Amino acid sequence: MASIQTTANGTPVLILREGSKENKGREAQRNNIMAAKLIAEIVKTSLGPRGMDKMLVDNLGDVTITNDGATILKEIDVQHPAAKMMVEVAKSVDNEVGDGTTSSVVFAGALLEKAEELINKDVHPSVIVDGYNAAAEQALKLLQKIAIEVDVSDKDMLMKIARTSMDSKLVSDDSPHLGAIVVDAARMVAEKKEGGTKVDLDNIKVEKKAGGSMGDTKLIKGIVLDKEVVHAGMPRRIENAKIALINAALEIEKTEMSAEIRISDPQQMQMFLEEENRMLKSMVDKIKSSGATVALCQKGIDDIAQHYLAKAGVLAVRRVKESDMTKMALATGARMVNNLDDLTAKDLGSAQLVEERKVETDKWVFIEGCKNPKSVTILIRGGSQRVVDEADRSLHDALMVMKDVLEKPAIVAGGGAPEAYIANELRQWSSSQEGRAQLAVQKFADALDSIPLNLAENAGMDPIDTMTELRAKQSKGQKWTGVDARNTQVADMYKQNVLEPAAIKQQIIKSATEVASMILRIDDVIAASKSRMPAGPPGGMGGMGGMPGMGGMGME
Ligand code: ADP
Ligand code: MG
Repeated sequence: MASIQTTANGTPVLILREGSKENKGREAQRNNIMAAKLIAEIVKTSLGPRGMDKMLVDNLGDVTITNDGATILKEIDVQHPAAKMMVEVAKSVDNEVGDGTTSSVVFAGALLEKAEELINKDVHPSVIVDGYNAAAEQALKLLQKIAIEVDVSDKDMLMKIARTSMDSKLVSDDSPHLGAIVVDAARMVAEKKEGGTKVDLDNIKVEKKAGGSMGDTKLIKGIVLDKEVVHAGMPRRIENAKIALINAALEIEKTEMSAEIRISDPQQMQMFLEEENRMLKSMVDKIKSSGATVALCQKGIDDIAQHYLAKAGVLAVRRVKESDMTKMALATGARMVNNLDDLTAKDLGSAQLVEERKVETDKWVFIEGCKNPKSVTILIRGGSQRVVDEADRSLHDALMVMKDVLEKPAIVAGGGAPEAYIANELRQWSSSQEGRAQLAVQKFADALDSIPLNLAENAGMDPIDTMTELRAKQSKGQKWTGVDARNTQVADMYKQNVLEPAAIKQQIIKSATEVASMILRIDDVIAASKSRMPAGPPGGMGGMGGMPGMGGMGME
């Protein structure tokens, strides 16, 4: 390959190490675009409420069933560098706004597909990139123009938004029930701060247990600990609990060095044990005198201490995770103490009920009915492990959507309506652009249409008829017209209550344009030789390992 260059007088200069691969110009672009398009191809059938799910099998044979773009791409093993960039888009959208991952990949793929058409017509990639960026900027302005401010205390509205996010998932049948949980949970942990609301999703603990049905999924105004009460003699249920959070061991500290005590007389032995007993009892006494009826300990609890706690009627749990202790403090209003000597009645938190319950085969401790909890738990139930796992992912998306809208209260309708609206406006606006950039803006608009188009295709609707009707209605100024995939018709998506945060659409446009531009700007791919090639096609950086039938996509 081109690793040897010659100077003016003909002396060869070795630039790249032997075995390196270089791929230049058109060829490099075409390869990159193809790889990126393939990634979009994989996820596009899962877009929208009628999208299909994917079954992913990892190399240990574990099966995941999901509809979530970010999860699909996380699980498949992608090797081609441009394909990897597409996976990154999904990840970045997931981190920023939590939903819209599939859309961003589909849109980025469409941008590249349309760009390829222009490249084939000899439009230079940098012209396309400029046109795309101008179009994206304009698209964001248009989005802002149609976005509707919402009142975050409007529970009904929030419910519609949460349901839209879940409507495209396995859990859609239960979206009325789950939607209400998501809305309540997000509102409970939302904090009014200067300059708006802040939602920290870390304060929503999600526990899942296969068994029962999705309808048994519950919001607990408090915390669920996947631990049992330490001692059989302790109460299993305490009402109006006073809770102590202890970050110290209820044990006799072992010495750091290995010490040895020689005992010559049984009497001494007895005294030694009694002293230990006395120390443990005094620890328990401190807890008791604070008025605590529940003790949650981050460290261990000695058997003898357990016995005394049981005698005192205290319900105790040991080795509680640090993260749970923090959440518990937020939920119950307790203050964590590191030293038992400091424990007073003021440090105790409260909950209406602390109870150990059987969840399938496990025993868990529920701390619930907290007043004004700043931390809550969602306990997901469902027919099987795979179902609760997918429900967990869908709830994550929906919770993120709640966070988005509570923090930035602006929404748009979904179902491809905003995309169709922006595409329409951009086509008109494109004439204001000069020369070939105009073509790029038009292609950008065509790429936006890929969202309603794929929603229609996945719903089994005729793509041409649908898009014609959609465009006609959009041109008449019906800006919320989109693809009502549930009822397979073109309809006003606002009236259909399909609502999404504007922040998600914004992020999709930004991230997809960014990655498409980045991929288009590459005209030279130089890959170091790999000393070891594990499974996968030979030839440096070729192919997408782990995906059958794509092995030859390299650059030989
Ligand atoms: P993403 O990972 O991009 O969120 P989804 O599979 O969740 O992908 O699909 C989201 C798309 O589905 C959005 O464009 C949204 O507006 C659309 N959508 C959701 N519910 C409906 C519905 N009932 N009818 C039509 N489109 C819908
Ligand atoms: Mg979604």
